[in-house]
Amino acid sequence: MTVKYRQRTTCRLCNNDKLAAVLHLPPTPLANSFMKTREESVALEKFPLDVNCCERCGHHQLGTVVDPKLMFQNYAYASGTAQSFRQHFKEYAEEIVRRFPDTNSFLEVGSNDGTMLHAMYNAAKCSRSAEVFGVEPAENLVKQCLKEGLNVSHGFFSEKLVNERRLFNMDFWTANNVLAHINDFVGTLNALALTGAKAGAFEVQYLGSLLDGGMFDMTYHEHVSYWRATELVNHLHEHTPWAVVDIELVPTHGGSLRVWVERSGEVPTRPHLHPDFRVYHFIETESRRDWAMSWGVLKEKMDAERERLRSLLEGKRVVIYGAPAKLTTLLYGLGLNKGVDFAYVVDDSPLKQGLFTPGTGLPVVGVDHLKRHAKGGGTVDTVLVGAWNFAEGIVMRLREMGFEHNQIVVPFEQAEK
Ligand SMILES: [Zn+2]
Repeated sequence: MTVKYRQRTTCRLCNNDKLAAVLHLPPTPLANSFMKTREESVALEKFPLDVNCCERCGHHQLGTVVDPKLMFQNYAYASGTAQSFRQHFKEYAEEIVRRFPDTNSFLEVGSNDGTMLHAMYNAAKCSRSAEVFGVEPAENLVKQCLKEGLNVSHGFFSEKLVNERRLFNMDFWTANNVLAHINDFVGTLNALALTGAKAGAFEVQYLGSLLDGGMFDMTYHEHVSYWRATELVNHLHEHTPWAVVDIELVPTHGGSLRVWVERSGEVPTRPHLHPDFRVYHFIETESRRDWAMSWGVLKEKMDAERERLRSLLEGKRVVIYGAPAKLTTLLYGLGLNKGVDFAYVVDDSPLKQGLFTPGTGLPVVGVDHLKRHAKGGGTVDTVLVGAWNFAEGIVMRLREMGFEHNQIVVPFEQAEK
């Protein structure tokens, strides 16, 4: 029998064996395992879901490691589905070209559906011919990108892949919403150094924002690491050829860090040690925060959110709008997978429509289905916004369909942002 998961007893960054448990959630199925039938969905295996903190280096990480092939081979998340993401990547690509105007060849690790590759191509091509390359483990997304004429290699990014595909002449790299997902952080960053790039940037969900907002549902098996600026800076400086030169907080996924790095030898100063740089202030703020207390507050927020959502949803006929990965953790974490009458889930992504949600077995349908049930058409009392990071746009659409404000429930609405 193949081993699908294992418990980590040592820190994935420093190998220390003293790990403190900071969050225990109920076991869930893999959050992007949307299945073809309800029976398959309900029968999915559940895996433990716990966050530990290394007592030596401070890195926050999942205690359970699921085989990445199970999670990423066929992937139902496509970032380009949301207009706000396309806009985000457009501005990000323009910022890269502004900061590094000599970027001619560009590599993205975990290029997903090619949204950033298209944005980078458009941002750079105005003045010269640019080349963009992607690496992506999900076969379905690679096929889609190849059809669109993008140059994307199928596989997990590694030193071996750089050598096989001869990706040696890059100017700049990015890796967005993937560095929380990979097991071998140091190996990946060292492999990026082989590409010839002198600089790079990545975005990764920020643990500080997760805790501020009570957004425990950002915890799922794909996210093996929960990053703070401090651990990122320390590990990049100590174990890779990259130095962090700037950090910004960007709004994606409820709050993410955008981290700019350059080759260590070419950075004249050490930005994390100098108050003129934003990196210094991130680390300074993090050192003053009481993180143990923040985890305690998160658990209180979860309890309050459980009560609030139960009181708003129980006894109602509920439809969920948005089927992101975090929906699975939200439903299981608050026990909403039992006792609430969910009819179906609406999602704008064609990759998910026609499938069933992991474990809960709810059918995923297009928005037209909900339109037929709005405006007095019948059977829906309340809409729960599953994709709460797009709540503003979704609430607007629901209001246009005729739903009243008191029929729309947004998780973490009262959370401090
Ligand atoms: Zn550690």
